[in-house]
Amino acid sequence: MDRHYLNLVQKLEEITHLNGVMSTLGWDQEVMMPAGASEARAKQIAALAGVIHECMTDPALGDCLNELKEKNSDCLGEAERCNIREALHSYELETKVPKRLVQELAELGSRGQGIWVMARQENKFSNFVPVLKQFLELKTEWAQRISPDLKPYDANIDLFERGTTMDMITPIFERLKQELIPLIEAIQNHPQQPDTSFLQGRFALDKQEALARKISQDIGFNTDRGRIDVSVHPFCGGSHPTDVRITTRYKESDFIESLYSVIHETGHALYEQGRPHELGDLPASESLTMGIHESQSLFWERMVAQSKPFCSHYFDTIRTAFPDNLQSATVDSFYRAINSCKPDFIRVEADEVTYPLHVILRYEIEKGLFGGSMQVDDLPGIWNELMQKYLGIKPPTDTLGVLQDSHWSGGAFGYFPSYTLGAMYACQFYNTLLNEQPEVEKNIAAGNFAPIKGWLNEKIHRQGRLYTSQELVQRVTGEALNPDYFIGYLKNKYSEIYALV
Ligand code: ZN
Repeated sequence: MDRHYLNLVQKLEEITHLNGVMSTLGWDQEVMMPAGASEARAKQIAALAGVIHECMTDPALGDCLNELKEKNSDCLGEAERCNIREALHSYELETKVPKRLVQELAELGSRGQGIWVMARQENKFSNFVPVLKQFLELKTEWAQRISPDLKPYDANIDLFERGTTMDMITPIFERLKQELIPLIEAIQNHPQQPDTSFLQGRFALDKQEALARKISQDIGFNTDRGRIDVSVHPFCGGSHPTDVRITTRYKESDFIESLYSVIHETGHALYEQGRPHELGDLPASESLTMGIHESQSLFWERMVAQSKPFCSHYFDTIRTAFPDNLQSATVDSFYRAINSCKPDFIRVEADEVTYPLHVILRYEIEKGLFGGSMQVDDLPGIWNELMQKYLGIKPPTDTLGVLQDSHWSGGAFGYFPSYTLGAMYACQFYNTLLNEQPEVEKNIAAGNFAPIKGWLNEKIHRQGRLYTSQELVQRVTGEALNPDYFIGYLKNKYSEIYALV
């Protein structure tokens, strides 16, 4: 094997291992660390971040990559070529930005977070305005430096969804608006809304935890190589495919939230556990984009766990856990209740039909801000106007409106589209699975999830980063991302639930 390549492997594996340590520290901070340690932990994390940054910008790594770039790549395999390509990409991301800009972004990120928390508490958007304005300036400069060929907002999207641009997203989102706004109106105007009363009440926390653990393991989460713990915000972390850690939170008044968040995070975890780590701790074995990751969590949460066969399989187990609450419920009423659709102000609490409109609203605002057609000072008004237009409701406060998400306070512009791209990918993947395994719904009803997990392992998880997300979708489903699957799925499902004609 080429000595430059072996040299590269050594350097890249070291970076992966250090990132694994960083990730474990981050998990510990959210799950185990005593609150008093936060200052010391911040210093530990900053020191480690410095070491990782040095490794990633090491001129010797740059020389090594240049040697390999010049070489004839015919003698290298697919995974090797992928490692070189990915390493070059992240080396450029790290080195094209001057240190001054890196520091300004980091400083604004930590300061912005605190200002956003206060502005949200006090319902005072004007206090957050200077942070947003400065972020837009810095993120525009950042974009021009790393990807001078891309429009600034496209460069921001590219960070989360490589190769996806506004030109691809805008027509898809326009279609979604065209189809979903009337669907939501029809649902809202329907006189019969599902009975959700039996989902309210008190649900013992130990029963909730046992149920969530059982279902997570039933669908394939391997607890020899993973853990489930509790944190304020659910997430999927861990340091390696052999150490995948998911978290949830339990509320006595709501077992559906914790159960479905565990299923969601399990979907992320199965992707992480299914990565091809025999390729080494190298880029080729890593997961693809945010959108593809989200497609894996939403595949299990929505396509599988919000389906009728899944409800029919678990209904007795769930009713046994909460006999008093679910006494009068049936499989059918349970299925309708967990799939009820109602426009609301908060994105993270939105159902699968209204969620895309929350995302589209944010996408249009980010696009407008970077493109210059919208101004930061006008955002509360723009936000409320779009909420009224898309979901027929107007937030009474900015805390319930423009100030609700943490993304902008850390400078994460271009992230939101990934949620809805993921939902559409999930649906398209599920449609292909249905064609390849016609018995899939029977399997779900029987609690036989192994064929589904096996299919996702083979088609998606084990592909690592060998292909772009566009290539992967083409390879798995035989076509490019096509919103028709998602639109068709929502229309069929909700026409049936709400008896729409
Ligand atoms: Zn997720």
